[in-house]
Amino acid sequence: MTTRKEIADMIFPEVTETIQDLEKKYPPRTNPICSRFAPSPTGFLHIGGVSAFFTERKFAKQNGGTFFLRIEDTDQKREVAGVVNLIINYMKMFGIQIDEWPIWENNSDIGNYWPYIQSQRKDIYKVFAKYLLENGLAYPCWMTPEELELIRTQQTKIKVTPGIYGNYSVRRNKSLEEIVDKLHTDKNYVIRFRSPGELGKRMVFEDAIKGSIETMENINDIVLIKSDELPTYHLAHIVDDHLMRVSHVIRGEERLASVPLHIQLFSAFWLPHPKYCHPASLLKIDNGNKRKLSKRHDPEADIWFFFENGYATQWIIEYLLTIIDPWFEERQKANPEKSYLDFDIVLEKMGKSWALFDFVKLQSVNNNYLSRISTNELYDQSLARALKYRPELAKNMQTDVTYVKAAMNIERHTVKDPKRFTTYVDVETQLNFFFDDERTKLSWNIETLKEGNVIADKVLMTNFVDEYIQILNLSMSVEERFAQLKEIWKKYGFAANNAEFKEWWYIGKTWDLAMFLRVQLCCATQTPDLFSVMQVMGKERVMKRLMAM
Ligand code: GLU
Repeated sequence: MTTRKEIADMIFPEVTETIQDLEKKYPPRTNPICSRFAPSPTGFLHIGGVSAFFTERKFAKQNGGTFFLRIEDTDQKREVAGVVNLIINYMKMFGIQIDEWPIWENNSDIGNYWPYIQSQRKDIYKVFAKYLLENGLAYPCWMTPEELELIRTQQTKIKVTPGIYGNYSVRRNKSLEEIVDKLHTDKNYVIRFRSPGELGKRMVFEDAIKGSIETMENINDIVLIKSDELPTYHLAHIVDDHLMRVSHVIRGEERLASVPLHIQLFSAFWLPHPKYCHPASLLKIDNGNKRKLSKRHDPEADIWFFFENGYATQWIIEYLLTIIDPWFEERQKANPEKSYLDFDIVLEKMGKSWALFDFVKLQSVNNNYLSRISTNELYDQSLARALKYRPELAKNMQTDVTYVKAAMNIERHTVKDPKRFTTYVDVETQLNFFFDDERTKLSWNIETLKEGNVIADKVLMTNFVDEYIQILNLSMSVEERFAQLKEIWKKYGFAANNAEFKEWWYIGKTWDLAMFLRVQLCCATQTPDLFSVMQVMGKERVMKRLMAM
């Protein structure tokens, strides 16, 4: 008579290790608190990943435990090599240290629970799958995509729970002899879980954040091992979280619905499951409706967007914490002098339902931050970014530090200040024109100003510049400057303002003149107070630029 063991041996002849062997190889950790960040290697890291890896790391560390990175690449269509380093770099940029992590290049992972890349753990998953086969808790299934599609259509039509269960699983109750026969002739199969769940039966589990959750048992015989011999997420992460001794699975809310299945899988191996923690997903309001921040519709869903646009990473974390953890916000308001790192994560107190991601608010948080820090800090942080993204500008920034700081300092800590820099890119944009070589790369010049505008009149403007530089005195008071300018603009026929302007009498407005000076000096149409800019630039540079018409 055929036994389950024979079938398991036919499917996995190469597997000789047992779960017990693996238990010995990966003993429990000295400090049992352990969490992990387990992204799939898509190269795209969702902004929700930042709050996830921050929370996971912080929670482990505040308990003296371990935090590691595991790459979940069992969907082999995705490229892994470069992505491992990319993810590690992203985490570093957010100041997140990792205790154990994979090193793709030479298989020399850091940590005792390696490999930390799932595709390199194939043999481990097979040990677990073999155990399930031997114990009748899994079975090979040869259902074709067409058969599966037919079932799905039927189930939708008669409105029953979708999935492969009960009579819908044509292979679940085949005799061992039939399975052996089929194994001899057809290698194209998957291994399915034989779920012990009952249709309509309810179960309760605890989520450390959401509390007690009552839901339906899982009845689905989900695929554990695919035809390419790689496991699905469900089996792989169960095996890994157990052998890597994870105590707290802090992960995206979209995984909450699979918890009943995951608990069944742990029970099938007679293993306790880790604590589940599902923080609220980031949502946004779109046309009055709440929806998840999505890669397809929202550029700000991608972490890269924030690097590219020069956001201060610590403020992204802080903002995310305020929306996923209302108690963090409360404590922070009561202790404004403290850093966000000073507040422990208390899972039970985190937000249970949706967290509204308001990009405009994040911009304002960032903006306030950049206006609050000292000029030295602003210089250091901006330089760090420029060294990475704008090396030529960075060289200039390092050459004349006093000049750069003076340029950054214009309108700093004034009412206008918060408007000036929302991101480090704003800082870069507003530094560009202070340097001759960067200024020449900018697109604005007098010719690009609107055709027909009086300031595009070269002869007129050359005369104006000649006169203006004669009287240019950068140490004048505001009043003196105004009185002096008034003389020139009157002489050239410019109106003081819009109200005074009459086409038949004036050739333009003082605003036009200011724009002319701005564009000629800075190759930009937006700058901070122009006289302050000139003062920082110094008379020689100002004259040179004005005369270069
Ligand atoms: N690889 C899964 C994902 O990217 C991770 C889920 C988990 O943390 O368990 O969604």
